[in-house]
Amino acid sequence: MSRIDTADAVVVGGGIVGAFLALRLAEAGVRRVVLCEQARLASHGATSRSGGLLRLHHTVRSDTELAARSLPVFEQWADVIGGDCGYRRTGFLQLVGPEYAQALAANTAVVATAAGPGRTEVLGLDDVRRLYPGLSLDGVAAAAHEPDGGYADPVRAARAATTAARRAGVEVYEGVRVHEVLTASSQQRVTGVKTTVGRISAPLVVLASGAWGTGPAAGLGVQVPVTARRIGLAQARLPDVGRRAGPASVPTCIDDTTGSYFRPDGTDHLYFGVPSHPDVALGHDVAPLTAEEISSALEAVARRVPAVTTAHLTGTRAGLDGYTPDKRPVIGAAGPDGCYLALGFSGGGFKTAPAVADLATAEIVEGQAVAGKAEQDLLRPYRLERFDTGRQIVPEAPYARG
Ligand SMILES: Cc1cc2nc3c(=O)[nH]c(=O)nc-3n(C[C@H](O)[C@H](O)[C@H](O)COP(=O)(O)OP(=O)(O)OC[C@H]3O[C@@H](n4cnc5c(N)ncnc54)[C@H](O)[C@@H]3O)c2cc1C
Repeated sequence: MSRIDTADAVVVGGGIVGAFLALRLAEAGVRRVVLCEQARLASHGATSRSGGLLRLHHTVRSDTELAARSLPVFEQWADVIGGDCGYRRTGFLQLVGPEYAQALAANTAVVATAAGPGRTEVLGLDDVRRLYPGLSLDGVAAAAHEPDGGYADPVRAARAATTAARRAGVEVYEGVRVHEVLTASSQQRVTGVKTTVGRISAPLVVLASGAWGTGPAAGLGVQVPVTARRIGLAQARLPDVGRRAGPASVPTCIDDTTGSYFRPDGTDHLYFGVPSHPDVALGHDVAPLTAEEISSALEAVARRVPAVTTAHLTGTRAGLDGYTPDKRPVIGAAGPDGCYLALGFSGGGFKTAPAVADLATAEIVEGQAVAGKAEQDLLRPYRLERFDTGRQIVPEAPYARG
């Protein structure tokens, strides 16, 4: 490497998490930050295919808190990051059947506490029908509504965050793969990385490498149980919705009763989740979705959005995200001094990336986690050690599907 062979921090991975981390580290005063992405920025990993759904509702309190700290960043993007992340406020609904109505009330109360007044409420089904006439509520017993929920465009967001990072002084290397995290003093301290184009010496290496996990640190005994999982989305045009003036008649929605999720795209398209094969090998192209996968997803979505039965399929996406055993990320220092992990976001890392980067940066810049400090306590559930100590994250008020 000729231009920069010395840095104060190397961030590995140019998805939404790496982009935000590089930005925040530079803003926090880390002088020479290098972001290494093995492909083009936000073009290879989960961020490049993500549906970008933004919601606060979760079944784990810390997830809710991270989402609640992140939503204002998407809402005020032009002012706080610069550029456009494509945020659209469509409203968000979490729908459940009768057996989970109580859990829904409990999770909604957590959102209300974390996000403040006006951010959510349990809505009667007649109100839901009035707000979103394109929905059918057959089999639904309870609904939590978030008026500010919706979606953003993850590729635009990651690129805008990287542009802001460059403005803050971050050096971005595209097409540079990190092979190995280097250490000194019997593997006690990080000294840099070995890449496809040379070495960069640095006392801090942050692995934000998504489904690729901790490969570059594997020789240091940093083993994270991350598997690469294929996730699918399909897009359909809904002629009936398109003819209606004003906002789309369906919101961004997760429906626990059918195991489906979807969001409008403009006024006449719908993106919907397509369950797909669980684990796949890295290093191969991600196979496009098949007709069978799409038709079974359509069957579930049609129970909520009857208009999809006459919809035209207009595209699909399939991408990889890194999944951990409890479907929550690993965030925190691990292995030798100077090695920090922020990966394994398990299909949900877009909406929390701004808060994760803020909190991780505070922790990195201040040194090790400070016990009792409320902000850092928020990251405590996500430590790598939980897989060895039997303290995996368990939803406090779970639904049938998470
Ligand atoms: C189809 C789909 C739909 C989704 N929908 C939603 C949603 O609606 N809402 C939501 O919140 N989340 C959603 N997600 C999940 C979310 O997109 C991811 O959790 C998030 O984008 C993860 O970001 P990341 O930066 O950790 O990983 P990635 O975006 O995967 O970025 C990691 C990057 O690291 C690079 N890299 C890896 N190893 C190396 C190396 N050794 N050297 C250099 N570069 C390396 C990779 O090339 C990659 O670009 C979805 C995901 C998919 C696939």
